[in-house]
Amino acid sequence: MKYDHIVVGGGTAGCIVAARLSEDPERSVLLLEAGPDYPDFNHLPEMLKLGWGTVNLEARAAGSPFNWSFTGIGTPEQGEPMPVPRGRVLGGSSAINGQTFIRGAPEDYDTWESFGNDGWGYVNCLPYFRRLENDADFHDDFHGTDGPVPVRHHQRETWPPSQEAFFQAATGIGYPFHPDVNNPEATGVSLRAENNIDGVRMSMALCYVDMARHRLNLTIRPNAQARRIVLDRDSTGSPRATGIEVESGGETFVVEGDEIILCTGAVGSPQLLMLSGIGPADQLRAHGIPVVVESPGVGQNMRDHPNVSVRYMVKEGVPQDPNGMRALRLRYTATGSDTPNDMILSPASLNTVVRDDNPAHTVNCGLYLAAGKGELRLESADPHLQPSMDYRYLDEDWDRQRLREAVRLCVSLLQHTAYDDIIDEITAPTAADLESNETLDAWLRRNISTSYHISGTCKMGPDDDAMAVVDTQLRVRGVAGLRVADASIMPDVVRANTNVTTMMIAERVSDFIKEGN
Ligand SMILES: Cc1cc2nc3c(=O)[nH]c(=O)nc-3n(C[C@H](O)[C@H](O)[C@H](O)COP(=O)(O)OP(=O)(O)OC[C@H]3O[C@@H](n4cnc5c(N)ncnc54)[C@H](O)[C@@H]3O)c2cc1C
Repeated sequence: MKYDHIVVGGGTAGCIVAARLSEDPERSVLLLEAGPDYPDFNHLPEMLKLGWGTVNLEARAAGSPFNWSFTGIGTPEQGEPMPVPRGRVLGGSSAINGQTFIRGAPEDYDTWESFGNDGWGYVNCLPYFRRLENDADFHDDFHGTDGPVPVRHHQRETWPPSQEAFFQAATGIGYPFHPDVNNPEATGVSLRAENNIDGVRMSMALCYVDMARHRLNLTIRPNAQARRIVLDRDSTGSPRATGIEVESGGETFVVEGDEIILCTGAVGSPQLLMLSGIGPADQLRAHGIPVVVESPGVGQNMRDHPNVSVRYMVKEGVPQDPNGMRALRLRYTATGSDTPNDMILSPASLNTVVRDDNPAHTVNCGLYLAAGKGELRLESADPHLQPSMDYRYLDEDWDRQRLREAVRLCVSLLQHTAYDDIIDEITAPTAADLESNETLDAWLRRNISTSYHISGTCKMGPDDDAMAVVDTQLRVRGVAGLRVADASIMPDVVRANTNVTTMMIAERVSDFIKEGN
């Protein structure tokens, strides 16, 4: 069987690309996903369905059936591997994530364009952000109201006391309130946008694939793990992707396609490229993989949002919030920074950090435009073994400086009178941790963690950027018939959680393909 398009990986991007391409009945589309699929909503496991409260955390826990349960290194001081959850189910990471729905800042996309990625500035991306969303609360030139992804905000009358206190503390010390977090002018305190309807996580399987399942030109094959891209040479001797070698039910098959679109995410896509002979030559040779195309940028430029949680215990009698509502975000510009809104504080009345069972309330302090970069490396030619991920958090002084400031700001907010009836004790960092820059750095190094926003490992870039893996139409350099379209192509990290940007990338590549580019 030969398809027009094989979409590999049914995560955020893959669900969108498969659904959009199959809108054209003349195109045959195969969607391959390593994890399971639940075509009937009534059979969707609770941990995938419910996006609020502790059940929200079960699917992403290490060892869950819907998590690849990777590990990485945050900093050398941590001594133990850091869990790196990624979704393994139709919907991918959108099926296990926190559903925060925030676009990057306009400047993020203008930065991408300034790197030579023509056509990726904010004005080019905005129509796609609008196309994908259905925002129930904000209706203006920046929002979409009829897209597949429903977006909601928690209104003030529903906030638990700790969220109300955060609002009062932050506005009380002078931060402005801009309700719409996705408005380009917004800064300060905003309502956190969420793709969740009445507690149900709206994954991209629900938002996009469900509306396409009836199409006879769309074939969905779950429980099918790609092992490598099949590459051939065209009449001029240049490499061309012709299919995918894939495991299903204990057997290995080759499926053929005119075009292969890798949507296996920022871990899976660089790994599959390298397993297929596309990547840094030294890494491929070290594992006995013949080099088809030397592409030194594969696995480099690994980006994330380093994140640390300030914790506190609440006084007896403070009402529990079983939904763990996260209604608000505080975005601000670090002192001395020329990149607006590079910092985000996110209060949560449940601990949403996977690696720690402490039931304290938290405020996550996130560095949303880190200067530091990590690296993903192939560790084996066996597709079942994960690549290594060294995040190298806090290597840059500028990153440490901004996070120290964020933690101190957070502590001062928690000491505001608005919290007088709520907080019993701030448990982390301790007064001793806060004593000096050195003690605080040591605390940061021990406690820094992932925001789960790995990206950038197959970055897009212009012809003269040797580290660019794909061009501006997301075609893999040096190989015909092959694209990468997922969080891995981001040339620089964005000042927001990465799901909406990945959706936008998927919407755009679908148009590139339909338009014949
Ligand atoms: C726990 C967690 C919480 C997060 N919270 C948020 C949030 O609140 N807001 C936000 O904006 N972002 C959040 N993110 C990040 C966001 O979900 C991701 O950036 C986004 O989903 C990435 O989309 P993707 O298509 O690149 O990859 P994914 O969605 O991860 O999709 C990759 C897909 O490919 C499949 N796959 C991988 N390898 C193979 C293979 N060899 N063969 C076949 N299939 C394969 C995987 O199973 C998966 O389905 C979170 C992520 C996680 C993990």
